[in-house]
Amino acid sequence: MTLRVAIVGRPNVGKSTLFNRLAGRRLALVHDEPGVTRDRREANAKLGDLRFSIIDTAGLDEGSTNSLEERMQNQTATAIDLADIILFMIDARAGVTPMDQHFADMVRKSGKPVILLANKAESKASQEHAYEAYELSLGDPVITSAEHGDGMSDLYGALLPHAERASEEPDLDAAPGDDDDEEGAILGPDRPLRLAVIGRPNAGKSTLINQLIGEERLLTGPEAGITRDSISVDWLWKETPVKLFDTAGMRRKAKVTGKLEKLSVADGLRAVRFAEVVVLLLDAEIPFEKQDLQIADLVAREGRSIVIAINKWDLVKNKSEAFREIREQAEFHLPQLRGVEIVTLSAKTGKGVDRLMPAVLRAYEVWNTRVSTGQLNRWLEEMVQRHPPPAPRGRRLKLRYVTQVRSRPPSFACFCQRADDVPASYTRYLVNALREDFGMPGTPIRFAMHKGKNPYVKD
Ligand code: GDP
Ligand code: GDP
Repeated sequence: MTLRVAIVGRPNVGKSTLFNRLAGRRLALVHDEPGVTRDRREANAKLGDLRFSIIDTAGLDEGSTNSLEERMQNQTATAIDLADIILFMIDARAGVTPMDQHFADMVRKSGKPVILLANKAESKASQEHAYEAYELSLGDPVITSAEHGDGMSDLYGALLPHAERASEEPDLDAAPGDDDDEEGAILGPDRPLRLAVIGRPNAGKSTLINQLIGEERLLTGPEAGITRDSISVDWLWKETPVKLFDTAGMRRKAKVTGKLEKLSVADGLRAVRFAEVVVLLLDAEIPFEKQDLQIADLVAREGRSIVIAINKWDLVKNKSEAFREIREQAEFHLPQLRGVEIVTLSAKTGKGVDRLMPAVLRAYEVWNTRVSTGQLNRWLEEMVQRHPPPAPRGRRLKLRYVTQVRSRPPSFACFCQRADDVPASYTRYLVNALREDFGMPGTPIRFAMHKGKNPYVKD
């Protein structure tokens, strides 16, 4: 079956330009369904070795007498309907506009798979704004320039799993080993590690960032009238390119404009969405305040990886006792992040700061963990033997099959005919053991029970 891809977005973001690029010289119109083709521009498209069919929204619903707005609306709805997968495009130079939000809502409601494209991003400045795209909650944006042909290999990477799925059994929703973002594991100049340092005011974020990047600070400020307050810093840590989201810088800016209070929560949220790894910076003298725990929980729920840094360690008297206590508190208050790395440091003196980035990279690696289905099922068998699941209403639950459906964060699906009867405590037992046995400390782990037998293997 041919994968059908529709390019959706507000006018002028570059949809036709991408359409033409993907259709290339094969812009022969497809006339396979009489009666429908009249209002549709569809062409065979090629990207690397991928072959699919591409639908241009602009070609839909033409010649109707509706207003431009209605036509756009109808065209988009039709394109979404027709497509197996949607390329949702924004203009990275303009950032996210209300009209983008409107169309993104339509796409999100359709429930179809979507790849977010931040287009017109040939310059460094516009790439900064591309990260605003995270506001749309449509996943990682692929940064492109349809005009120059940039970002096509990333687009290929994003389309590939969908194309593979399309050529498999038609009724499989998520095949084992399926992963939309495996590409993301490879860090490089085009794919810096996205890092955010968050924490309450006065935890020492600015001091830490200055200590980390020192003179090499490359502030890319917002351009007038385009973005509001996203500030990120491109930075090279040893060999690793890092894009650091500077909430402290945002706060400094907010101070100037007198909006400090309002920003603090929204800041944290934006930073977490942007980041792959979040450093939660706590003040050694008052660690794990309610607000800190809420932030940590938010990070876990958003599925980001996390490192906890305890700042102002220079002020702590009995260091080993204090550390033991902090460790205990972390395990008690944050069971969803069990084993999270805790780095003690002094942003002010610089002591211990060199241990932060190695911890960040370890957390990133754990977050990208993939476990093979074979290993997982051998493991499951052992787990079930060691501690059999309960037998509600006199019949023992049978866990039949487990597979990893995603990484970033590691996400697993387990199959059981009576999925609803599996108690949370048993799932917890499995998650804790998974963490332990496959070396995934500190990362949020998603583990879902599904009804039915193993849907992937015919037995
Ligand atoms: P559509 O209305 O979304 O189909 O947008 P078009 O493809 O017609 O593009 C609108 C304008 O943006 C045209 O002038 C294009 O040349 C320009 N454009 C498209 N892609 C890019 C790009 O990647 N970079 C830049 N700078 N301009 C682009
Ligand atoms: P932010 O609000 O999180 O950006 O915090 P700042 O970086 O502005 O720091 C808040 C205060 O804590 C400042 O007075 C810093 O000098 C102080 N501070 C930051 N890091 C340390 C540290 O490691 N030790 C000590 N003793 N003070 C620190």
